[in-house]
Amino acid sequence: MLEIRGLDVHYGGVHALRGLSLTVAPGEVVALLGNNGAGKTTALSAVSGLLRPSGGAILFEGSDITRERPHRITERGLVHVPEGRKVFSTLTVHENLQLGGHLVRDQAELRRRIERVYALLPRLAERRGQQGGTLSGGEQQMLAIGRALVTGPRLLLLDEPSMGLAPLVVASVMKLVADVNAEGVSVLLVEQNAVAALRIAHRGYVIENGACVLDGPAAGLREDARVVAAYLGGV
Ligand code: ATP
Repeated sequence: MLEIRGLDVHYGGVHALRGLSLTVAPGEVVALLGNNGAGKTTALSAVSGLLRPSGGAILFEGSDITRERPHRITERGLVHVPEGRKVFSTLTVHENLQLGGHLVRDQAELRRRIERVYALLPRLAERRGQQGGTLSGGEQQMLAIGRALVTGPRLLLLDEPSMGLAPLVVASVMKLVADVNAEGVSVLLVEQNAVAALRIAHRGYVIENGACVLDGPAAGLREDARVVAAYLGGV
């Protein structure tokens, strides 16, 4: 479904991605793990067209999207939820979701998609008239994911959805990601919280200095001594 081949990204003199390769198969949740500055956000931004790679290729459902514009990539069904859950704080929950559907021309279809998000996230349904900025951190993260779902993705790129959230809230965000996946949406999940990500992922990649150092099934990574030492707090 997604194939990243030998991707290079430079920020001026900084070589942020160094020949990164990874794949996401239909129906998979794939975790992209690594420390601060490893290149995780850069990888997602390159895939969604926000950054222009200096080398390599990105294929989505067999089409080369390496140099495609971000809105064209979104229209193909590849949707990026950036770090920091950027909800519109003065707009209501419902208006935020409607904005997610600005590319959807059929109003009945838009309503149907928003109702599906409310069915998946009853807390948002209860708060549909509340301003986005007054939601808790976890609710804002769910709204950011809900807004992406209204776009009708087949592949979601999620950048650190657990950031800054309490453990119980992290668990409910991860449950949402698993529920979304169960509805048939593939996910590339960037996380520093390797424990939470590997609980719901099928496979994972660990990157350091812009290149993959380890990859495999999530169950294997959870037990790999190097992952345990570096990312799971040595437990
Ligand atoms: P984090 O979890 O902190 O977001 P990350 O793994 O997502 O880390 P990136 O944000 O992709 O890492 O950064 C990869 C490298 O590129 C880092 O060395 C970073 O300093 C550098 N970098 C990122 N954005 C820029 C930029 N706009 N200009 C220059 N260097 C950048």
